[in-house]
Amino acid sequence: MFDIAIIGAGPAGATLARLIGKSYKVLLIDKRELNDSGIRGGISKCCGGLVAPDAQKIIAELGLGLPQEVLVGPQLFAVRTIDLENSIERYYQRFYINIDRDKFDKWLVSLIPKEVDARFGCSFKTYERTENGFKLRLLKDGREYIENAKIMVGADGAFSILSRQTSGRRPLARSYISIQEWFEGQSLKPYFSAIFDREVTDFYSWTIPKGDVLIVGSAMHEGKDAISKFELLKRKLTDYGFELGNRVRKEGALILRPISAKHTLVGEAGIAYIGEAGGWISPSSAEGLSYAFKSALFLAQSLKPGLDGFLERYEKSTRSIRNNILVKNLKSPFMYNPIIRQTVMKSGIQSMDMQK
Ligand SMILES: Cc1cc2nc3c(=O)[nH]c(=O)nc-3n(C[C@H](O)[C@H](O)[C@H](O)COP(=O)(O)OP(=O)(O)OC[C@H]3O[C@@H](n4cnc5c(N)ncnc54)[C@H](O)[C@@H]3O)c2cc1C
Repeated sequence: MFDIAIIGAGPAGATLARLIGKSYKVLLIDKRELNDSGIRGGISKCCGGLVAPDAQKIIAELGLGLPQEVLVGPQLFAVRTIDLENSIERYYQRFYINIDRDKFDKWLVSLIPKEVDARFGCSFKTYERTENGFKLRLLKDGREYIENAKIMVGADGAFSILSRQTSGRRPLARSYISIQEWFEGQSLKPYFSAIFDREVTDFYSWTIPKGDVLIVGSAMHEGKDAISKFELLKRKLTDYGFELGNRVRKEGALILRPISAKHTLVGEAGIAYIGEAGGWISPSSAEGLSYAFKSALFLAQSLKPGLDGFLERYEKSTRSIRNNILVKNLKSPFMYNPIIRQTVMKSGIQSMDMQK
């Protein structure tokens, strides 16, 4: 019997396992081969791979610094904001660390203490409650088997199977499908572009230079027309002057945008959620790495005094990130209301003078 079973070894699950792995008997499972140095079975997490200032801060607070091998050029010091509807663009100073997301996830896994029973290429299927905790049904190499744990942690991302199976699921957050395509780059500019155009989406689209490719992405409402909207975005970007070479990769993922505090999920009777499984992601930028680290840290701190009452302690400690999500929602009109955005961008407040 394990004390704690963590489902998912992305940034949230790997961080929690690192922090509690020596104090508890921990089982960590992930369907990806995160201990494998190669890329097997399309393991990549669809992500822009930008470490924003909030994430940089929590990484520092956790006593970590990024190793050279996870970095990818160029490092980015400005956001190019393009309002396609109002034909206006501005540059704003902001520092991002540009990373290779696969290598980043594997680096986090490499920090997990050897006391943790970490199983990769292993999928969580279902669970049942038992007298002492939970019976988990897992699948590895085509074989089903059972493990038992006193508590479970869902760190299995936005599409969390665990949260979908629990009775107390959160009211559904606004659901977006994100698509990213990677293009061989031509004269890549060193900016993260944030692109606004309601014909494409009421959220936003982006471009990110990464090594010698340009990532073009967008988060659009789920539905049949997401693909045609993405094609429209590419046409608009090409007309705007972006040069898209050969496509080398295409990927997609779900984003649950928490437009109210009700859209986040702490847990219920013996189960806790961290990272995107708990809805912890910025509703304005879809930045989620800082929330993955913070929620894992708060849960580790809540587990320190013991298993009894851990969920109440976690509930309390996550208030700060719930408030942070609330504040981001309050600020959202400055980015997402076309009239306010146009006024702010036209004023040039806080924008940079670019020497072209
Ligand atoms: C298109 C896109 C771009 C983004 N860009 C950025 C960015 O630039 N910067 C930023 O900060 N954030 C970004 N985000 C958000 C960020 O990627 C997430 O917030 C972050 O990955 C959350 O970490 P996590 O550990 O909670 O979940 P995940 O990283 O999703 O990890 C979940 C893990 O659970 C595993 N898993 C899932 N189901 C099962 C199962 N049934 N059994 C076993 N294992 C399972 C998965 O294999 C995975 O390893 C982006 C998101 C999207 C969709």
